[in-house]
Amino acid sequence: MIDRRDLVVVGGGPAGIAAAAISAREGRSVSLFERGDPSAFRVGETLGAEVGARLKELGAYEAMAPILGEQARFITVSSAWGSDELEERSTMFHPLGAGWHVDRSRFDRGLLEWSRSQGVHVQTDTGLCTVTPDGEGFLVKPRRGRETWGRRLIDASGRGAPATAAFPGRRWLAHDRQVAILARMTPKGPTDPGPGLYLEAVEEGFWYSARMADGTFIAVLLTDSDVLLTLGRSRDERFQRAFARTRFTAPRTRGFELMGRPQVFRSDSGRLIPDRGAGWRAVGDAAMATDPLGGNGVARSLKSALEAAASLDAPFDRARAEQRFSDYLDQRTEFYWLEHRWPDAPFWARRRPVDLDGRPFDWKTVDLALAPDATLSWRATPPPGAEAWLPRAALDALRAATTTPAAAHEAMSAMSVVAPIGNRRLLVGMQWLLVAGALEQVA
Ligand SMILES: Cc1cc2nc3c(=O)[nH]c(=O)nc-3n(C[C@H](O)[C@H](O)[C@H](O)COP(=O)(O)OP(=O)(O)OC[C@H]3O[C@@H](n4cnc5c(N)ncnc54)[C@H](O)[C@@H]3O)c2cc1C
Repeated sequence: MIDRRDLVVVGGGPAGIAAAAISAREGRSVSLFERGDPSAFRVGETLGAEVGARLKELGAYEAMAPILGEQARFITVSSAWGSDELEERSTMFHPLGAGWHVDRSRFDRGLLEWSRSQGVHVQTDTGLCTVTPDGEGFLVKPRRGRETWGRRLIDASGRGAPATAAFPGRRWLAHDRQVAILARMTPKGPTDPGPGLYLEAVEEGFWYSARMADGTFIAVLLTDSDVLLTLGRSRDERFQRAFARTRFTAPRTRGFELMGRPQVFRSDSGRLIPDRGAGWRAVGDAAMATDPLGGNGVARSLKSALEAAASLDAPFDRARAEQRFSDYLDQRTEFYWLEHRWPDAPFWARRRPVDLDGRPFDWKTVDLALAPDATLSWRATPPPGAEAWLPRAALDALRAATTTPAAAHEAMSAMSVVAPIGNRRLLVGMQWLLVAGALEQVA
């Protein structure tokens, strides 16, 4: 016997839980599926004060207040970014004040409990759920648990939107190949790692680290998947070697020991295209995922759920989705431009759009010189800096289109199909490749 609901939600992170609860409160029958064990460790522990504001908007703040009260306050950020010195900033100057360093598993479990109180039927530990369009709705098949048919579907399955991967005509545009390698540590005796969040830029990426309310410590290196492989032969060696080289992060952990092996998580920036269709839509990271550097993934996911609830049936607005992602890329660039110590290191070259003399280069104002009927031919593997302009999918499409000489407008349209990040941005990227010598104008 298959359960039937008004709405099925796949993914029990903040976005899925919030979207499910809002719908249930409005009187719909809602089932939510989470593949994992809700008490297992979850990444994403530093929450800005915006999260409190979103929880209030959602009506979940009162239920969550006791859990937030048990967590460590997020009061300072000390960062060595663009300089060898550590600079401290206080959240005192943030209009909404201090945030929290939370046990994310505890936080998400609290939200899940609250959603039950709003009428959501929750199934956890289901293993991977597959979703297929079925008649006028969608069929969710969990590995463990009850098959459920829903008239509508919300995909809240996180970065890469794995839940609807098999849907025809949709794909994930990954803008980079960023990953996180994370270790948790526990004190062997009395220790003082100092307060707050530390952010430390290094040649292979950047570290963040923080102490949690239960006294454990977390240290995370954000890097690129190929750069990570160069750091050692095993996951443990890669983490240990890179960690030992840090100037500020490792010294904080004197007196701590590792809790188990480091874990690796994907952390690419990207978006789902399209992020909605007839009867379904994606929310949170499943719709668009951003660099953890922003530290606002949870706040963004809650906001996305609130917006989705207000416009469950709004059609896909291609231009708006493209603009949102483009604005995000610009914000990201501003952060990365502040660091200039390793201009040639692949991690930094891929995030700092600069001209060939290393000067910041604004794609919005540069002259467009390439004629649409210019004939282009692919010459060589582009340097890492090309990825600051163009996602790899665009580079692959450009190479395929110009391996045999082709008109610039044909190459452009091949790129814009797979990587809709704005035609001007793509064109500037193509001009950059010409100057860098990866592409040649043959006529
Ligand atoms: C290294 C790292 C550090 C971060 N640090 C921060 C931070 O400090 N502060 C912050 O605000 N954000 C941070 N983030 C981002 C934040 O964690 C995410 O933005 C946020 O969790 C997104 O919420 P979500 O509900 O959209 O997706 P998720 O939290 O990813 O939830 C998706 C859920 O879907 C489930 N799922 C996936 N596929 C299926 C399936 N087929 N069937 C059933 N279930 C499925 C998954 O198990 C998961 O629980 C960080 C991210 C990373 C990678």
